[in-house]
Amino acid sequence: MTDPFTLGTIKLEPYWWDQAPRPKLPELALPKTVDVAVIGAGFTGLGAALTLARAGRDVLVFDAETAGWGASSRNQGHIGLIKRAFADVEKAYGKPKAIALVREGQAAIDHVVDLIEREKIECYLRKTGRFIAAPRPGHYESLARELELLKREIGFEADMVPKAEMHREMASDAYAGGEIRHREACLHGGLFHNGLLARTMGAGARVAAETRVTRIERGKEGFTVHTARGSVAAKDVFVATDALTGKLVPYLARRVIPVSAGGIATEPLPPERIRAVIPGLRACIDVWKLSNSIRPSPDMTRIVFGGRRTMVDSDARTSGRRLYANMLRLFPQLAGVRITHSWLGKVGYTFQTMPHVGMVDGMHYATGYCGYGVGVAPYLGHKVGLRILRANDSATAYDDLPFETRPLYGGNPWFLPASVAWYRYQDSRAR
Ligand SMILES: Cc1cc2nc3c(=O)[nH]c(=O)nc-3n(C[C@H](O)[C@H](O)[C@H](O)COP(=O)(O)OP(=O)(O)OC[C@H]3O[C@@H](n4cnc5c(N)ncnc54)[C@H](O)[C@@H]3O)c2cc1C
Repeated sequence: MTDPFTLGTIKLEPYWWDQAPRPKLPELALPKTVDVAVIGAGFTGLGAALTLARAGRDVLVFDAETAGWGASSRNQGHIGLIKRAFADVEKAYGKPKAIALVREGQAAIDHVVDLIEREKIECYLRKTGRFIAAPRPGHYESLARELELLKREIGFEADMVPKAEMHREMASDAYAGGEIRHREACLHGGLFHNGLLARTMGAGARVAAETRVTRIERGKEGFTVHTARGSVAAKDVFVATDALTGKLVPYLARRVIPVSAGGIATEPLPPERIRAVIPGLRACIDVWKLSNSIRPSPDMTRIVFGGRRTMVDSDARTSGRRLYANMLRLFPQLAGVRITHSWLGKVGYTFQTMPHVGMVDGMHYATGYCGYGVGVAPYLGHKVGLRILRANDSATAYDDLPFETRPLYGGNPWFLPASVAWYRYQDSRAR
């Protein structure tokens, strides 16, 4: 078969943008002063801006690109708990804190589901749970042990699916079973972003798209936010730029690791072909270190595949080939299926594989969702909104996590090729 990636027939942008094109907002004349400047119009920034605007604050959201251009319109739309084994989290922070972090993750899932339903955002929200696939028997046993503990401690809603039954969920012989997490969900990220943007602007927040913030200056009474189009004074600033922060806030640059993540979408397929791969029709992800994810498209006409093997890629042709080869390795029944879209985006990781929320130099930040921002980003944005309002209920279990950096790290993740090699080695040793 001729390599489709050389033919120019593949769209090198997110499949999601077909149905949810990036909004072209009219150029906004910048005001002189606002109550709150939010930098970044993704899920995090909008999560805060909606809460603040509804409380009557004058909010201006800046984005360097079109609103939602970052990860918020490129993601696979899985809404789930952060992928870090409970045993690891327990070892790092102790059992009570590990349980509090799981509860907080569940609160984030509930928040985003509730937000979508309350605001009536049409984004194909499917509350059907997610399937977590275990590649090796050892993974399966760890998931089962973790589930037993979480069921006992907090009534975690999930069920194990043994290998003999897993073809009901995901038709692949590459796995040893898995777990259905009933409270998790999926949606169309691009439509969710567009809906959230519309509600936020409807509540009175202004959005200055294509307006990059170049510098933030702290004064006695607040901040001056500088852009190439002029400067705006703000009482409060919320930095919501996640993996795309660059050098704007050096403290964050030293702590957030921008990692590439990619996706591919197949050509339209008959329903029986999709069911032959994902009979459960849920969003599925595996627990390899270099994990893979697969789901039906929201309208059930295609398969959308993604994964962490694209961590070091900068070209959507390279990542697309890598993902395609991997998809066929896991689902050989898809041989011959064409790819129509391949895309990349940046995900913010942290050295502890945990999100962080807090303040630096008087500015608020929330960042580092490690591939789980669809649930956590709007939730932490909302919490920061509550903090700015000095409202109750703004505390989170993430507040007191130490936000670590490493020597020689200033924002350029030069060590990623070595990390990929290390993950590959760990995966190869898993039993
Ligand atoms: C391919 C891919 C798949 C993913 N899949 C999932 C998934 O299935 N489930 C899940 O939970 N998460 C997933 N994620 C991660 C999730 O999308 C992110 O965690 C989340 O969208 C982060 O939202 P955010 O608002 O913090 O950042 P972003 O959406 O990245 O927004 C940051 C914004 O800040 C703007 N900005 C940056 N610098 C400046 C500046 N100086 N001035 C003004 N604006 C600036 C950028 O233009 C950008 O629009 C995925 C990500 C990718 C890339």
